[in-house]
Amino acid sequence: MPKVVSRSAVSSSTDAQPTASSEAALRVYYCMCGEFVLVIDKSLTSLPRRKTDNAIIVRAQDSNDGKARVFKLNAKPIEPILIEREGGHEHQYRFQCSRCSLTIGYQTSPPPVKSAPFLYILSGALSQVQGQVPQDAFDGENDV
Ligand SMILES: [Zn+2]
Repeated sequence: MPKVVSRSAVSSSTDAQPTASSEAALRVYYCMCGEFVLVIDKSLTSLPRRKTDNAIIVRAQDSNDGKARVFKLNAKPIEPILIEREGGHEHQYRFQCSRCSLTIGYQTSPPPVKSAPFLYILSGALSQVQGQVPQDAFDGENDV
C-alpha cells in the first residue's frame, strides 16, 4: 500500500490575500520597472521552456495536448521581427511594457494576444514582486 502523504499546509502567513478567493491561485507578474504586466493561473517557473531561446511557454489555446492557461497580458504589441531558426524563419510578434518599452514576450501570429497557440515570455523579463515563495518551489521534496 502506498503511503498517502497529505501535504501539510504551508504557512498562510501574514501576506495580504488577493481580492476574490476564487482568484487566489492567480499570480501577478511585473516588469522590472514595476508595471503590472501579467496575471496567470500558474507560476511561470513551473511552465516549460523553449529549447531555442529559453522563453517560457504559456499555452494560449486549448488543444489535444492540454488546456490553455488562464492569463491576461498587459503589454503593447510592436512591430514583428523575423528570427532565423534552424530549418526556417519565425515571425515574432512582440509585446513590450507599456511604460518602459522593455520587450516582455512574443507570439508567432499577429495580435491580439492568444491568436497563436502559445505566448512566449522572455526569460527573466518578469518578476513576481510580492516576495512570496512559489508554491511549486518544493515540488518533489515529499517524494522520498
Ligand atoms: Zn516596464
